[in-house]
Amino acid sequence: MNSLEIPTIPGMLETVEKVKSGEIKVVELVREHLERAHSINPQINAFITILDDAIAQAEELDRKIETKDPEVMSKKLLGIPFTVKDLYLVEGTRTTFSSKFMEDFVAPYTSTVAQKCLNEGAILVGKCNSDPWGFGGSGENSGYGATKHPMDFTRTPGGSSSGSAASLLAGVGFFALGTDTGGSVRLPASFCGLYGLKPTYGRNSRFGIGAMGSSFDTPGFFTRIIEDMEVLEEIMAGKDVNDATTAEVLYKTSENSKLKDQKIKIAIPKEFFTEDISADVKSQLDAFIEKLRKNPNFELEECSLPSAKHALAVYYILVPAEISSNRARYDGVRYGKKVSDNYEENLFGSRSRYFEDEVKRRILVGTYALSKGYSDKYYKQASLVRAKIAKEFEEVLGKFDFILSPVSPVSAFKLGEKMDDPVQMYLVDIFTVTANITGNPALSIPVGNDSNGLPVGIQLIGSKFSESKIFQAAKQFTNID
Ligand code: GLN
Repeated sequence: MNSLEIPTIPGMLETVEKVKSGEIKVVELVREHLERAHSINPQINAFITILDDAIAQAEELDRKIETKDPEVMSKKLLGIPFTVKDLYLVEGTRTTFSSKFMEDFVAPYTSTVAQKCLNEGAILVGKCNSDPWGFGGSGENSGYGATKHPMDFTRTPGGSSSGSAASLLAGVGFFALGTDTGGSVRLPASFCGLYGLKPTYGRNSRFGIGAMGSSFDTPGFFTRIIEDMEVLEEIMAGKDVNDATTAEVLYKTSENSKLKDQKIKIAIPKEFFTEDISADVKSQLDAFIEKLRKNPNFELEECSLPSAKHALAVYYILVPAEISSNRARYDGVRYGKKVSDNYEENLFGSRSRYFEDEVKRRILVGTYALSKGYSDKYYKQASLVRAKIAKEFEEVLGKFDFILSPVSPVSAFKLGEKMDDPVQMYLVDIFTVTANITGNPALSIPVGNDSNGLPVGIQLIGSKFSESKIFQAAKQFTNID
């Protein structure tokens, strides 16, 4: 067998209700999900750590539910198993960032967004495999081996949040946290037929999550259905004193949460519908767009984002630059493996031996782009183009409710196919990096399957802090046939 049986999992909200009424015991639910995690992991390598002690937390919750403890009964995610990418710190739990360099690191505190989910009664069952610190688009750069696509083990489920998406598709947990710096939630969501949100930069706290490119990083997440996403984003969003870039925006009442008109106005940027898209993906996107055109609730119009063609170049200068400076803390003293008692030998030796190849490549590119004599030519120039792209997005979103684009030019590709050619691998990100460059929220929405039966997603991009509006539109997408 080259694929897993994909189980049908009930909705998250109805499951919470059943937990509250006593129809489902948390311990049974958690055991079911842990057992599934253990049974699928040898086949798809989605987890770095499976948290069997979740059973003890489940028993504790069941005791409180039995006594109808009012505080517990009001929790929005009561008893819901979930997973996180291994970039999320969880106190007392091994957190490797999917790099061998951090293999033995145990987190001293918990990331804000994971904590917010735990506070609502959710139970963490596993820490998921990914590219190290999120550096990649297929999961193949992980120090712990590649994750395999549950529907075809010879393919990637997409990355970098490979294990989060693959395990959710395979039936573990009701939602999975990932991170999206240039598409790492949206791409695997598209490859796995899930919903994947990259929130507005500054909406969900980055505190306690391994940093990649700090002005691009966003804590995103995956769900099977859009209704679950709405509830989760409301829980995770908000100001955090530990992340100075977070904003307090009223979730549903802000101006940005309203549709501009009765009709939903969607801009189709011509720069995003290029020759680069595979015929198989294109036919799925075209068919979906055609359905929207025919529907009286939507108004579609072509638009232009002329500077978007520079987005990938901008991204692959600025992000490695931020990556290289963020890696300074991994000096083998504060973090990392010790290989020598001599400071210098340890610094060079531990990084040389334990950083994966892609980690080294990003540090080299970033250090080069920031070096004397080159920083104006590369870093400064790319920052100026970044601002230009953001302005063009703002102008289009001033006239339209959304921008609609492909998530990726391809569907789930074969493992190994792009590993020898980093540029081919980077090209997969061509349609996702713009939303991280501009800071806008973007959602990957499943729209169909390609000729191999593999999922294809479409991307809906909104104005900053318009998540609630994006969800309203995505719900309408589900019944446009
Ligand atoms: N694939 C992109 C990269 O390798 C995006 C990574 C991410 O979003 N973490 O940079």
